[in-house]
Amino acid sequence: MAEPGYCGRFAPSPTGPLHFGSLVTAMASYLEARARHGRWLLRIDDLDQTRCVPGMAGHIMRTLEAFGMHWDGRPAWQSRNQAAYQAALERLRRDGRLYHCRCSRRQVAAAATRSGPEGPIYPGTCRGLDLGPGPGRATRIRVDDTPIRFEDGLFGPQTQNLSEWVGDFVVHRADGYFAYQLAVVVDDHLAGINQVVRGADLLASTARQLWLHDLLGQPRPRHLHVPLVLGPDGKKLSKRDAAHPVDPAQPLPDLLAAWTFLGQTPPQDRDLSVEEFWQWALPLWQPERMKQTESRDERTTDPL
Ligand code: GLU
Repeated sequence: MAEPGYCGRFAPSPTGPLHFGSLVTAMASYLEARARHGRWLLRIDDLDQTRCVPGMAGHIMRTLEAFGMHWDGRPAWQSRNQAAYQAALERLRRDGRLYHCRCSRRQVAAAATRSGPEGPIYPGTCRGLDLGPGPGRATRIRVDDTPIRFEDGLFGPQTQNLSEWVGDFVVHRADGYFAYQLAVVVDDHLAGINQVVRGADLLASTARQLWLHDLLGQPRPRHLHVPLVLGPDGKKLSKRDAAHPVDPAQPLPDLLAAWTFLGQTPPQDRDLSVEEFWQWALPLWQPERMKQTESRDERTTDPL
């Protein structure tokens, strides 16, 4: 199906080598873009420098190339996009949406009377205080009490009321970094991304991001969230734990395992080069088959 305007992306954080879980996400996003003859961009999410590991961005890029996932154009870097985040923050501030907050995480937890799926809901302690900026002060955005609705490409219709889910959330952190929720919205808009394919752990963030797109007067991208690969402890594999790195010297076994994890039927002939794999796989890609994929333990995933 030709969809000329399609523009997708993969946005790894350079906190560790690419692991099987991020390979699965990269593959789904790559297949969606290429099967629609769209563009596929790479962004390095190095916003929070305290979590980034030196040299890891280059390592991730070389790994993607070894796996035959070639991106269009030059990679974007969040660390180089600070001026755009600042401009978005200023716009939200001018619109009267933002306020400074001096509450620590512990104070929020102690003061919160309600808890949402992501933990204590900020009780609005600093909402009316009109605090100025200062060291250790975060900037929060005042949320609305109206439901945000969207259709996820895999998980279907979603509704989230931000005041019941997270409350006023942080857009600029107390340690000086812009918050992920704001940065990703600015980045995706700047790059012209209209289809976000990423791990299902970010499904819960999507309403916040769509709402920010609305407030900034930007068109909403569509979203498709990919089932997560879980470790033996039932938690998402984490790059920071150096969990299960994939081997760029032997891409095919991991490519086939990722393809199978995504609910696709493995090839009869497994003696393929990386290029042959993609030529074979692209016309056969059926995203709806990911519905059969339940998030599961990678080690019990033995498709071969
Ligand atoms: N950088 C994020 C991660 O590695 C993904 C951000 C996104 O896809 O929106 O989990």
